[in-house]
Amino acid sequence: MTNLTNLTITEALKGLESKDFSAVELTQAHIDAMGKAKGLNAFITETPEAALEQAATSDKRRANGTAGALEGIPIAMKDLFCTEGVQTTAGSHILEGFVPPYESTVSQKLKDAGTISLGKTNLDEFAMGSSNTTSHFGNVINPWKRQNDDADLVPGGSSGGSSAAVAARMAMGATGTDTGGSIRQPAAFTGIVGMKPTYGRCSRWGVVAFASSLDHPGPFARTVKDCALMLEAMSGHDPKDATSANIAVPNFAAALTGDIKGMKIGIPKEFRMDGMPTEIEKLWEQGISWLKDAGAEPVDISLPHTQYALPVYYVIAPAEASSNLARYDGVRYGLRVNGDGQTLEEMYFKTRSQGFGEEVKRRIMIGTYVLSAGYYDAYYRKAQRVRRLILEDFEKAFEVCDTILTPTAPSAAFAIGENEDDPIKMYLNDIFTVTANLAGLPAISVPGGLDSQGLPLGLQIIGKAWDEETVLRVGGVIENAVDFKAVPKGI
Ligand code: GLN
Repeated sequence: MTNLTNLTITEALKGLESKDFSAVELTQAHIDAMGKAKGLNAFITETPEAALEQAATSDKRRANGTAGALEGIPIAMKDLFCTEGVQTTAGSHILEGFVPPYESTVSQKLKDAGTISLGKTNLDEFAMGSSNTTSHFGNVINPWKRQNDDADLVPGGSSGGSSAAVAARMAMGATGTDTGGSIRQPAAFTGIVGMKPTYGRCSRWGVVAFASSLDHPGPFARTVKDCALMLEAMSGHDPKDATSANIAVPNFAAALTGDIKGMKIGIPKEFRMDGMPTEIEKLWEQGISWLKDAGAEPVDISLPHTQYALPVYYVIAPAEASSNLARYDGVRYGLRVNGDGQTLEEMYFKTRSQGFGEEVKRRIMIGTYVLSAGYYDAYYRKAQRVRRLILEDFEKAFEVCDTILTPTAPSAAFAIGENEDDPIKMYLNDIFTVTANLAGLPAISVPGGLDSQGLPLGLQIIGKAWDEETVLRVGGVIENAVDFKAVPKGI
């Protein structure tokens, strides 16, 4: 039998349908792969027994003709999605041991489509980070290595467990959340596809909140088509999330026609940053010429407020986080540190001091500062105004182009420990991704090739609101052109 873990979701669905193998066999193959790759620390909670039970039920559904769209496909769930009866930690000590009595809308939709959950993947604490080094449950290690160098590299963050699991063939697809780049950057660092849809396309209900106006659930997979299938299953209106849009979900996979003739591809001049590594510059040029070869026309566009995107993000995201994280007080969820149990305030203080890690505390402090009466106008209100200008930049640009092409990240995966000395350096990772979150626009990262060290690099396509189809179509054209066959060492 072919190595089942190397199949794409699309291929596996065919194999299941023609009875080449069962969902139980497919699931077992992935559980074996998880066992072999334990050293990557991609999962916080593994649920192999439940997965095999689900797989047996899935085989029955397929046999009696009630198969869902993703029937029998083993996937991994970022540990930010609440899962009924399965520990959900958000990568934090403060939620350690929290077992939700409910299921998030997105994970429920994936269950309804017939997927099998292998477990909950590791992430930066409360999804704050770009390297998966802030998790209370330890670093995740990228399955890729530089040539001639054995240093452990980061898998990107915050959804680093999901990206590592899919890249290392432990899962066929995975969920992620993207608040400033946390799906697209890890996808780029691990040589897979990751997509953030339009804000409101996938429900946030039951997803542990980081920054509510920026959080976007979305999929990881190894091909654009697989990503489209995952996204379709995850999308749709949810009355339980007030920001969920009541807009029909298209057949996303059908958008992959390969036809982009005459399409206008915007190339934003402000993304040509000083000091951009030449390899990233080259990758971008290569992407432009692939799209040209396919009949598209590159057009120069300007997104003049790009330079303010990171500062604006690092005001708004911590402000929302400080408010969202106020609920972790030792009373309702997870950790409670009583100390001597003298006063309620002492219990709050000890629980939060011991429960949150350094990065989360830094964000809570920044957030409460920018929301404080004395500084609200100077920081928070101003940031909201500039956010509006960033959205207007995109609206103007989309008058002359259909999608925008940029690199996904300013570098390939870096070594664990690099960029740790200075939080600003870490924050710069999101320089190309964060504007799409501020504007709520759909964006995908597709592998664009390898750098000189043999590490994957990603190209990003950003689209108009609700036009995931064009984003996927252009992504599919890049995927065909690059014909990315490289795999991490040992896979
Ligand atoms: N790296 C960014 C941050 O640390 C984005 C994280 C995310 O998208 N969840 O906030």
